[in-house]
Amino acid sequence: MDEFAMGSNNMISLYGACKNPLFSADVPRSAGGSSGGSAAAVSANMCDFALGSDTGGSVRLPAAYCGVVGFKPSYGLISRYGLVAYAQSFDTVGILSRDVATSETVFDLLNQHDPNDPTSLSNQLREQIALSVADGKRDDHKFTIGIVEENNLDLSDEVRQAWIRAVEFLHAQGHKVVTVSVPSVKHSLPTYFILSPSEAASNLARYDGVRFGYRAGTDSDQEVLYAPTRNEGFGSEVRRRIILGNFNLSSDFFGNHYRQAQKVRRRVQHEYDAIFRTANVLTHGDGDNKHVDESAGFERVDVVVGPTSRTIAPTHDEVNNAKASVESYVNDVMTVPANLAGLPAITVPVGLGASTVGIQLMGQFGDDKKVLEVARILEQINQQ
Ligand code: GLN
Repeated sequence: MDEFAMGSNNMISLYGACKNPLFSADVPRSAGGSSGGSAAAVSANMCDFALGSDTGGSVRLPAAYCGVVGFKPSYGLISRYGLVAYAQSFDTVGILSRDVATSETVFDLLNQHDPNDPTSLSNQLREQIALSVADGKRDDHKFTIGIVEENNLDLSDEVRQAWIRAVEFLHAQGHKVVTVSVPSVKHSLPTYFILSPSEAASNLARYDGVRFGYRAGTDSDQEVLYAPTRNEGFGSEVRRRIILGNFNLSSDFFGNHYRQAQKVRRRVQHEYDAIFRTANVLTHGDGDNKHVDESAGFERVDVVVGPTSRTIAPTHDEVNNAKASVESYVNDVMTVPANLAGLPAITVPVGLGASTVGIQLMGQFGDDKKVLEVARILEQINQQ
């Protein structure tokens, strides 16, 4: 994995870059990050499933690049106990496997309250979720599937074709397809890259060489310990994010950056609430849904379907030759909204000629089983 789970290509690792087993090692391609190793191991048939942590897409992006299933459940369902925090209000343990059924079996085992994790959802909240999900259920198993118009970005041809193929397939199976809008989703990326480094800077402060972590060798009592310890102990990407996070949290910028980003995050969550049929037990439907005109025959959806990534896996050279490291941040554009809103999301491989593209399904908070059910339907596309 990438150091401290920061990255989209698993090339910032002490052990060297991870190679994608779907492609020839002569021209190595990214396995996706940060959990590229988990995705590569599953894709190369070394194990039945693997775990990863998904803070902004680190389970789904590697799964999409390596042609496997990657499932990020709703925030708080699976215990984070034992996981090193990157950004704790986003971090979610996810599951990678070759088929949806395996991910679901693992999820059913792990989906329970853990008193050791303060962010683990209580049993009382889990009961409320069960009621809300029962209300939004489709007894005939025919679903309304949304296409978020803001997802129609600069996509590669194969990704766009796979998305169309997936939508046509679902429609042909008797599900209804409608277009929906989540306007603030276009601010997701900057919001994520303000909030997650802020949390990371705070979490990583404990690695001071005194109580935790690496300690730089100092020859005399006169030398400072903290700066060389943290300079030598962290890689450049982690240092960049610590600096960025502390900058955003500093008194001059807190109001304009951190606080604004928190507001956008809440708005994204409320806008998703306005399109889903199942109610969100966390927000009680008190959301900002002004952009939805229900009088005009607007229909709420069970899940939304979109691409997991803008392109298929880039080559290692393409990643290394990128002009700025922030270029790789753009590849998280499809995955971070689910983390901002805490929603369940899964990527399913959709074959397209010789390549495989990850297609993502996302549902309301707590509606994980519905997302998995639609994923099982979508996965049949590869049997055709
Ligand atoms: N690529 C994103 C980042 O670098 C997501 C990482 C993750 O989900 N752990 O922050």
